[in-house]
Amino acid sequence: MRVSDHVIYCLPLSLAFSLYLKSPLPGLLCLASGVLIDVDHTIEYVQAYGFNLGCLKKLLIATQVKSKNKKISDFKKMYLIFHSLEFVIIFWIIGLATKNLYFISAISGYSLHILLDFIGNREYPRFYWIIWRAKNKFLVEKILRVEINKEQL
Ligand SMILES: [Zn+2]
Repeated sequence: MRVSDHVIYCLPLSLAFSLYLKSPLPGLLCLASGVLIDVDHTIEYVQAYGFNLGCLKKLLIATQVKSKNKKISDFKKMYLIFHSLEFVIIFWIIGLATKNLYFISAISGYSLHILLDFIGNREYPRFYWIIWRAKNKFLVEKILRVEINKEQL
């Protein structure tokens, strides 16, 4: 899913947290966590292109993992460390245990991001488990529903 889509979908939730807690900080935490977790795509980007800023558009494309999308074929592996349901579960356990509403605001944005990617990217449901991706050595050809041109790998 595109970064701009995450901003659009996360804004109402962020606004709700800020209004409910009467502070801009929870909304900003929600929005930041709901958008910035895509920063983990930089690992694949740097592996494929190095620190070449000329390929920055490809980094934005990399955030749009879609079925049958050959645009991501430059990537051999996708780690996507932050795109993990394990973290969602751990963070919610911590958030509910501490009842810290600022932390819960951040987790909500984070969870919304994963949910939107889950719905929008239409990958294998197990794709969002980092343990499953690790079991498959993070290989794009195993973890994504994509047709890959092997010559490009
Ligand atoms: Zn994402």
